[in-house]
Amino acid sequence: MRKKYLLIGLAMGSLSFGQTKVDSTCVGITTKNTNCNIKVNVDSTKYCHWHDPAKINVNRCNGISKSTKNQCKLKTKDESGFCHYHRPKNK
Ligand SMILES: [Zn+2]
Ligand SMILES: [Zn+2]
Repeated sequence: MRKKYLLIGLAMGSLSFGQTKVDSTCVGITTKNTNCNIKVNVDSTKYCHWHDPAKINVNRCNGISKSTKNQCKLKTKDESGFCHYHRPKNK
């Protein structure tokens, strides 16, 4: 009896695994201009948490990174819109 349940569990496990699109990776491009290889669930999104346009600019710091000259990637909840690195210090 116990063995039978185990077999059913294995069958169902492999079935759901077969339906999962394990090869799906984020379509975003990293700062090094390479494809982002973070695995994503394509049923709901094409982007990982770094590249999702719906999330990427939410509360994002308006500062410019000195090393890359790109917009700072840090998130901030400060009302100035800058993270603790880029916030004016004379405050
Ligand atoms: Zn990504
Ligand atoms: Zn910043």
